[in-house]
Amino acid sequence: MRTYTVAAGLVVVAIAGSIGIVFAQKGLPWPMPAGTQSSAASAASAASAAPVTPAATTGATSAATTAVASAEPRPVVSQAVSQALGPVAAPSGDAPIVVAQAGAMPRTAPATATPATAPKPVAAPAPAPANPNLPPLAGPAAVKGPACNNPGALGVSRTVQIDTSGGPGFGFEHFKQFDFLQPGEVVLTFDDGPWLGNTPAVLKALEQECVKAVFFSIGKHATYYPEILRQVYEAGHSVGSHTWSHVDLSKKTPDEQKEEIEKGISAVKAAIGQPIAPFFRFPQLKHPPEAVAYLGDRNVAIFSTDLDSFDFKIRKPDQIVARVMDKLKKHGKGIVLMHDFQHGTALATPTLLAELKKGGYKIVHMVGTNGLQSMAQYDAMIAKNEKLPTAGSGRPISSVVRTIEQ
Ligand SMILES: [Zn+2]
Repeated sequence: MRTYTVAAGLVVVAIAGSIGIVFAQKGLPWPMPAGTQSSAASAASAASAAPVTPAATTGATSAATTAVASAEPRPVVSQAVSQALGPVAAPSGDAPIVVAQAGAMPRTAPATATPATAPKPVAAPAPAPANPNLPPLAGPAAVKGPACNNPGALGVSRTVQIDTSGGPGFGFEHFKQFDFLQPGEVVLTFDDGPWLGNTPAVLKALEQECVKAVFFSIGKHATYYPEILRQVYEAGHSVGSHTWSHVDLSKKTPDEQKEEIEKGISAVKAAIGQPIAPFFRFPQLKHPPEAVAYLGDRNVAIFSTDLDSFDFKIRKPDQIVARVMDKLKKHGKGIVLMHDFQHGTALATPTLLAELKKGGYKIVHMVGTNGLQSMAQYDAMIAKNEKLPTAGSGRPISSVVRTIEQ
């Protein structure tokens, strides 16, 4: 039995928290904050509620109506690095380096030098952003991550660097331009995190098999669990964004779409402390043309999927594994859509990786050539959302909560 002396300031937190729980338990699309939701409410709802299902990603098949980057003259998928258990540090120049032979590039490329065995950099310069008011891409979009200590691991067979200029689309459910995977190659993607318990479990499974993946994080969830998302980033995974509050952007105005996209980017960036991967996935795979065009101006790649696991519907780990393996058998390769937000997926991931290894599949890791910078005005909105202090904020925990009986 514990008894706490709780300062009055925490009552405010409790009340705000209960408001957050209502949203969480109802599984509603997260309301737009408009400065109304306190960080206390967010944190309390996130910490208290069982994982909610935000308007879950579906296999919606509405075709994207705007071609993205279809006229790109330059290589989009530009680099293959064999035996890489973490992505190669990307060169800092605008022009991508094309490496024809797997393994031709050292694990960590110097920032300016081109490896002797590699062809010269492509001469074509990166096009300027269509809208000069939008920030250019920044430095490398992912870190290398820790060394692999499991010699029998599934590992990463190659890392591909994606030049996201003009907003290329990936995933044959909607985009047909870039068929870069070889037979047997698989890209793993995880949406809707970070989430307590589930995301760390997925991370652990990936780490044990030295596998790297792409994560599409919900901005609000990034504000709940920034430390978990930072772990994702530091493990060498690509961390892209998935809007601020997981709304269906096809039901929003262009201005609202932009705010959802940008606040999502800012929130993910705030969590990892770095420019994020220039990768984006639309909630429910709904691709409104205006938002597709905007992401093109922003030089952000759009990810649909080749294989939807439907893990948000199936939920049972063995069935999730069976679904993915069945689809892979049928298609032979593909970008797989899963959710680190889902408990079933967290439980399924170790088995799925074992099955992939057994089936002889190869993991491909996608990294952005450059990182995506957030925009200052949206950073400010996120910061404002984070800082709604209660009367007692700023005091150390020990001065507010003290164990007096144990
Ligand atoms: Zn989603």
